[in-house]
Amino acid sequence: MFNHTVRGSRSPVRDRAGERESTTAVRLDGVTHEYGASGGRLRSSDERTVTALRDVSIEVPMGTTVGLEGPSGSGKSTVLHAVAGLLVPTAGRVELRGTDIAALSDAERTRVRRHHIGIVFQRFHLLPSLSARANVALPLVQSGLPRSDRRERATNLLHDVGLGDRSTHRPGELSGGERQRVAIARALATDPDVIVADEPTGELDTATGTAVLELLTDIGRDRAVVVASHDEATLDVADRVITLCDGRVDDVR
Ligand code: ADP
Ligand code: MG
Repeated sequence: MFNHTVRGSRSPVRDRAGERESTTAVRLDGVTHEYGASGGRLRSSDERTVTALRDVSIEVPMGTTVGLEGPSGSGKSTVLHAVAGLLVPTAGRVELRGTDIAALSDAERTRVRRHHIGIVFQRFHLLPSLSARANVALPLVQSGLPRSDRRERATNLLHDVGLGDRSTHRPGELSGGERQRVAIARALATDPDVIVADEPTGELDTATGTAVLELLTDIGRDRAVVVASHDEATLDVADRVITLCDGRVDDVR
């Protein structure tokens, strides 16, 4: 169904293929997170704090897809946000290729996120007024690439996800599955090492979801993918599945 050339369109942004050996892409080490804790300090006695993660340690080697499962509220999205540098955990290390991003300044962490992480959300988060191509090109605005190169890369990525003929369509003119493929193309725009996907098939019917999963599987071959899902089909594409329960790692299979 897809042109399996996602890897083939490897980056005009930067060619890091040689660096992508069998190293650890992501390592969470003893990560605890309390929402509502002030100044990053643990205040377990404070009723307003919610302990979302408790001493979570996870390793994701390059070239693998790790699935996160667990009931609603078990901490899946919080893990993904920590991996993506969208939050700084109250305690523990979040290493991206050996660098503890939790210890970086906000500006440095934002830079790491923009260059090295691709994020796919359940509800796509596309800008409705922009074409599919402009949505995909958006993360490249700060890359220093000339506009014509950004457009070309976005066009190629849309082709790779099977939407070569839809590049001028706006999100409202696309189906749910097509929107998610645009969102995946956008996540790949900066050629990131790591993709995090939060319930990427949650809004899609089974057949459409399967097509999105094929794409994620393909992407995971030479990156690291962390995908949270309730859905068995999604977890089936993972090399390893981690079960979270009440903020703790309950099982690894
Ligand atoms: P999941 O993705 O597995 O459903 P989450 O990581 O979203 O779980 O949530 C874990 C826990 O943290 C839940 O108890 C949830 O209510 C809480 N939580 C999530 N986001 C916030 C937030 N921004 N502020 C306070 N509590 C939150
Ligand atoms: Mg969630």
